Amino acid sequence: MRVFNFAPGPAALPLPVLEQVREELIDWRGSGMSVMEISHRSKAFLGVASEAEADLRELLAVPAHYKVLFLQGGAAGQFAAVPLNLAHADAGVDYVNTGSWSKKAIGEARHYCRVNVAADAGASNYTTVPPQGEWRLTPGAAYLHYTPNETIGGVEFPFIPQVDAPLVADMSSTILSRPLEVGRFGVIYAGAQKNIGPAGLVVLIVREDLLGRARAETPLVWNYAGMAAEGSMANTPPTFAWYVAGLVFKWLKREGGLAAMAERNRAKAQLLYRSIDESGFYRNPVDKACRSWMNVPFILANPELDKTFLSEAQAAGLTNLAGHRSVGGMRASLYNAMPLEGVQALTQFMREFARRHG
Ligand SMILES: *Cc1c(COP(=O)(O)O)cnc(C)c1O
Repeated sequence: MRVFNFAPGPAALPLPVLEQVREELIDWRGSGMSVMEISHRSKAFLGVASEAEADLRELLAVPAHYKVLFLQGGAAGQFAAVPLNLAHADAGVDYVNTGSWSKKAIGEARHYCRVNVAADAGASNYTTVPPQGEWRLTPGAAYLHYTPNETIGGVEFPFIPQVDAPLVADMSSTILSRPLEVGRFGVIYAGAQKNIGPAGLVVLIVREDLLGRARAETPLVWNYAGMAAEGSMANTPPTFAWYVAGLVFKWLKREGGLAAMAERNRAKAQLLYRSIDESGFYRNPVDKACRSWMNVPFILANPELDKTFLSEAQAAGLTNLAGHRSVGGMRASLYNAMPLEGVQALTQFMREFARRHG
């Protein structure tokens, strides 16, 4: 039996995608082999690869002067690859710190260049986004890095920063959740295991004029220009993850694309936040203007009930609701593959739980 899986990542995949994977697993499109067992350089796989890229470009309306790369090493790998590709060792770079993932990106970048934290939401305990008017930017910065959606804190930027430096965004937990103006960005990257496909793949979208700035010591597999020149195949790519990501892109197109996803995701988030706010039993600490559509943390009036909540939810087919180990409480992740019915089931369970324990 399938459950409603609220995991933050690796996260739920659309059932039709899983069914198609099962359908063609043993004998992929008449080849007598699975897609995992064929050469990444075969005509058949190159077709999979380029179709996935074309579908992603179509979904996000990626302008022609951007490259799309399919890499490994996760979003965390990009925490190092971004400074290596875009900044000299003595260059100044700006980072906005809105929580756990920004902090990790900052920590890694400090190994490679001079990091200025242009804004830090610490004063609010990372429950809001500092308004851009308060940021202290470095003149001539090589780039500005930010985390549009903090997966752990559930804090989302209600705006796209407007800066002179190339804008770099870790979109791991928000990419494909709604339409996006890609042309505003220098680099967008996203680990696949939240809203794209299986773990093992990171998708990167880079403006062409930013290619060719990499330091000599940049690893080949993370060199944007080198990987762009090789069609992301300077080495063996994660073929299975790439293939499944392609199926997810096709599913998104069938479902109406990112405008349809935006409507669905807004409805899901609104329903859950409304239930939390009206309950008097659950609480979400995030500034209302900065609440994430994708990751909704909440706490119970009595934290001693956490374990009971989780086990009763599990029994009701609502899984992976525990908050991140660093913060505790609960968190429901509502990526594209989570249907509205899942959120309806969750809010109904929450209402009944509060009635019994409140
Ligand atoms: C999950 C996540 C990461 C880490 O991704 P890995 O693929 O594990 O490296 C980084 N940033 C954000 C915003 C995330 O949600």
